[in-house]
Amino acid sequence: MAVSARWCIPVVEFCDTVRNKCTDTRRCSVIPEQYRNQQVGVTGYRVLNLDLDGVCADYSGALRDYLVDHGVMNPDAHPEENNYALYENAGWPFRTREEYLAAHKAAEQEHLYATMRPIEGAPEALRFLAENHVYIRIVTHRLFVSGQHQMAVSDTAQWLDTWGIPYMSLCFTGLKDSMQATVHIDDSPSNITALRKVGQHVVVFDQPYNQNFVGPRIHDWSRSATQQLLDWFEQWPETGEGEQ
Ligand SMILES: [Mg+2]
Repeated sequence: MAVSARWCIPVVEFCDTVRNKCTDTRRCSVIPEQYRNQQVGVTGYRVLNLDLDGVCADYSGALRDYLVDHGVMNPDAHPEENNYALYENAGWPFRTREEYLAAHKAAEQEHLYATMRPIEGAPEALRFLAENHVYIRIVTHRLFVSGQHQMAVSDTAQWLDTWGIPYMSLCFTGLKDSMQATVHIDDSPSNITALRKVGQHVVVFDQPYNQNFVGPRIHDWSRSATQQLLDWFEQWPETGEGEQ
């Protein structure tokens, strides 16, 4: 596992070099002893594989805003949210996957990923998790449209910086079940299913289209939900528990 020079090493060096003279106990206790060696892999560190769209970023809201601004969607229209695939919900100005991809690609060209709103409370909650020694690894499937990857990656990084969201890794993949973590957070029914099938611990981020899943779930990024996440890092609930 790579060690971030920006986040980890300066803090460790600070504590190692001035520990005996330091009076700032808050800073000296930033990384507890058991988390100082980040070479221990996912079994020795709190690793969070974190989805973006529908969990941290309001993708559907941003796409809707784009379509309204371009006159192809009624500003009073509020599409249904019963299905994960947007084109399967009534209220959108597209009916097929191909039409949806065309709309997405056009919006992406106008920096959809750099300008969308975060889901309320997400930046603050993620900073709280990072302060509590959670290794945040962004895992997103945003490269599902070819030809615009440079923009998708750059805009994603810009958006994360704009909102002050801390992270140690930024991974672009749709094969989420290929990446281990202590805890995953996702909203996609197919991802939740695939990850649980290989024994990974998934917290469902509540959305109308994933109501049929049992098990650990958070409804928002409130402090109580974030604290619950921290508790699950230490003690994963037994099967059937954790429904919030
Ligand atoms: Mg998602």
